[in-house]
Amino acid sequence: MQAEVRTQVLVVGAGPTGLSLACLLARYGVDFLLVERNAGITPYSKALGVHARTLEIYDQLGIAEEALRRGAVAGRVRFVAGGRVRGEADLSRLGEGLSPFPFVLVLEQSRNEALLYEYLQALGGRVEWETTLESFTQDAQGVRAVVRTPAGLRTVDADYLVGCDGARSATRERLGLEFGGSTFERTFYVADVVLDWPLSHDAIHVCFAPDSFVLCFPMEGARRYRLVGVFPESFRKDEGQVLYEEIEARVRAELRLPLEIDEVRWFSVYKVHTRHAGRFRLGRCFLAGDAAHIHSPAGAQGMNTGIQDAYNLAWKLALVLAGRAHPQLLETYDAERRANARRLLVTTDRLFQLGAGRGWWLGVLRTRLFPRFARFVLGVSAINRRLFPLLSQIGIHYRDSALSDHEGDSDFAVRAGERMPFLEIEGGNLYHRLRSPRFHLLSFGDEAEALHTHPELVEHHRLPLTRAVAERFGTMDDFHVLLRPDHYIASIGRDPPDAQVGRYLERLRHGL
Ligand SMILES: Cc1cc2nc3c(=O)[nH]c(=O)nc-3n(C[C@H](O)[C@H](O)[C@H](O)COP(=O)(O)OP(=O)(O)OC[C@H]3O[C@@H](n4cnc5c(N)ncnc54)[C@H](O)[C@@H]3O)c2cc1C
Repeated sequence: MQAEVRTQVLVVGAGPTGLSLACLLARYGVDFLLVERNAGITPYSKALGVHARTLEIYDQLGIAEEALRRGAVAGRVRFVAGGRVRGEADLSRLGEGLSPFPFVLVLEQSRNEALLYEYLQALGGRVEWETTLESFTQDAQGVRAVVRTPAGLRTVDADYLVGCDGARSATRERLGLEFGGSTFERTFYVADVVLDWPLSHDAIHVCFAPDSFVLCFPMEGARRYRLVGVFPESFRKDEGQVLYEEIEARVRAELRLPLEIDEVRWFSVYKVHTRHAGRFRLGRCFLAGDAAHIHSPAGAQGMNTGIQDAYNLAWKLALVLAGRAHPQLLETYDAERRANARRLLVTTDRLFQLGAGRGWWLGVLRTRLFPRFARFVLGVSAINRRLFPLLSQIGIHYRDSALSDHEGDSDFAVRAGERMPFLEIEGGNLYHRLRSPRFHLLSFGDEAEALHTHPELVEHHRLPLTRAVAERFGTMDDFHVLLRPDHYIASIGRDPPDAQVGRYLERLRHGL
């Protein structure tokens, strides 16, 4: 056994969840050890869609511009049924006014991981590659883990352990947490191919058949596409027995378009599970990302949700480790993110049913009605204002959380627990002023007093009460918004800044 290592947080797994957690912990100055079984980041494309909320987080880290440079905005969606294009819709400004990123960015998972890894290295962080968590125990004082490195076994003593170790999480298993849910009977396929067909490479293609679908996502490189689809219910082979030829036959039968597949770079066949862990925290151990929840790929939510788990947990660990908050704060990670995972499982199941569910009327909706009317539906701003927040994850809220102080927020159109709305102020994106990893007190109006307390924890911004702010918050009178470090509203009201901030931070310090 090699010498013991001591760290504040042991992070297990360097997928998108573990990498983002490490980046965020590094920003808060928390000491961590990130261990990963593989020798490097994933070579596979896996997740493709990066949603607005993830881009807002990237923006706070200062890496959104680079993500946009490396990826491509999903500009259009084209609907195909029965071998013909039935409709087309613009996706590039779906969330106009709701986020600085009103679209989905197509940037494959391996490139997201590369971006996060580069950022981590720039902050002086590193990954212990080829290092596997073997076992661990915990008590009131900390966690003791054993990891296997290329040089042998090593003991790690940590204050906390976060299992970001994917769907087959050893952390979850060792904690004895159930992973309840169900498995879809039908088999999914995914293939990265080079495709020649009569349709242009500038759109996502959605092809509906009576009881299934094929999605064709344009990827970087001429004619390169990701094909995703589902076999019909009558197809009863085990995942390991499916041949690529069967996938291609399925794609041809459903698209009913002349096509040549020149090259297959990668393909996989899998069953989709919809499950979440019974708890996301047990004592000093946490689960995040696929280790905590998995669901159908409908809506492209998995990687994005893992990154948001990390975003929710990092600041809480940082405050507790710094002795600035009561350990009870950590329980809100479980409450907030498990409730979100439950909602997510319901949404993705519904989306999947719409895409491939049984019933003649669903078949008619998919192949006849939706392709024709989608353009009009997606053009209606009232619909977009509901749909975009749901898919882009900007609509996630923690209104019912113990961390949302509702005292005084009933006068406002925005409540504690909601994400700080996107606003342009004095010609600039308000979020750009909120990049430092701290609480932010936003005082809107002319009369705001200075904030005298907790300057190391809270940054104070005096801002004009513009018409846009007044409309969004539903008030013409001066007010203050206290934001958590993850840009959710902690409290909102008209008490003097010292009173509003002091009351909130006292609660964090002494228990919720
Ligand atoms: C084909 C496909 C398409 C998808 N499309 C999308 C999409 O468009 N958008 C989206 O948001 N999501 C999508 N997803 C889901 C997404 O890929 C996952 O949700 C995401 O990878 C989860 O990230 P993670 O970091 O939580 O887990 P993982 O990416 O699984 O990472 C876990 C890491 O932990 C490591 N590990 C495991 N056990 C140990 C151990 N004992 N010790 C050390 N290391 C360990 C593993 O090697 C791995 O690197 C897709 C998935 C697939 C397969």
